[in-house]
Amino acid sequence: MRILVTGGAGLIGSHLCDSLLAQGHEVVCLDNYFTGSKRNIFHLLDSKNFEILRHDIINPVDIEVEQIYNLACPASPVFYQFNPVRTIQANVLGVTNMLELAKRTRARILQASTSEVYGDPRVHPQPEDYWGNVNPIGVRACYDEGKRVAETLMMDYGRQDRVDIRIVRIFNTYGPRMAVNDGRVVSNFIVQALKGEDLRINGNGMQTRSFCFVSDLVRGLVGMMNQDDFRGPVNLGNPRELTILDLARKTIQLTESSASIVHGEAASDDPVRRQPDIALARQILRWEPTIDIDEGLELTIPYFRQQVTS
Ligand code: UDP
Repeated sequence: MRILVTGGAGLIGSHLCDSLLAQGHEVVCLDNYFTGSKRNIFHLLDSKNFEILRHDIINPVDIEVEQIYNLACPASPVFYQFNPVRTIQANVLGVTNMLELAKRTRARILQASTSEVYGDPRVHPQPEDYWGNVNPIGVRACYDEGKRVAETLMMDYGRQDRVDIRIVRIFNTYGPRMAVNDGRVVSNFIVQALKGEDLRINGNGMQTRSFCFVSDLVRGLVGMMNQDDFRGPVNLGNPRELTILDLARKTIQLTESSASIVHGEAASDDPVRRQPDIALARQILRWEPTIDIDEGLELTIPYFRQQVTS
């Protein structure tokens, strides 16, 4: 098949390109390089089945494809809040453009949604039928509400135009190829620990997240795309929940760092707890993560060690 991966030079996108090429598909990787990096796909340039397209999905694109993974959107709060109007445009105009492409080519389209659709959740862990608790006017709304609209557009193109849609809600994901300046907690903590700098926790560190290693996540994406009679939404994430303070301590221990932990101000609208309920993914996709946080950090730290020393 010829498969389009938007955001293909990002963390998840680049690992997805690897996986699809290994399965023998042709891959068109589309990215505007706002947060993605050519370095993440450099090793694929010699592959005869791989093409890259510098493009921003807020503008239409017209190519012949059979599947579309729509991952294009900055995902780190630092970057998605840098130009919030562009962020929401990526999710409204961008998703509409991708759906129009899917409609014309009759491609199946998978939308990368997010645990952020649950906002600061009142239900814990979060199942797919929970509608969420999102502040529509806060600093995270450009992303949270953007992704919620993206899901609505997907469902409406599905119902109105019979576009073949898949929706996955991705929980915090990490791994090699995250940018050193990504701004999210796993990369920040590892880089700080490796440099011997203070690990800066926003607030008291009692807020929780559940971190999924990128290879597990990619396996879930491909499984969902190739699932014939289930369009989602489905949660994809690792259900092992830990506090940000625990993550900081673990990172210091695994990097054998002498860095200290310091506390700064809590971030605005920062969700207090987050953990995926993955019963649906287990049941329908027969999917669950296999790499726990310790193993995943061990796999990620050498990559960052190389980045900070080169
Ligand atoms: N966080 C932190 N220090 C950092 C970066 C993030 O304490 O250097 C906190 C952040 O406030 C949040 C959690 O770690 O509570 C996860 O943040 P991240 O930006 O990685 O992801 P998201 O909030 O989108 O889940």
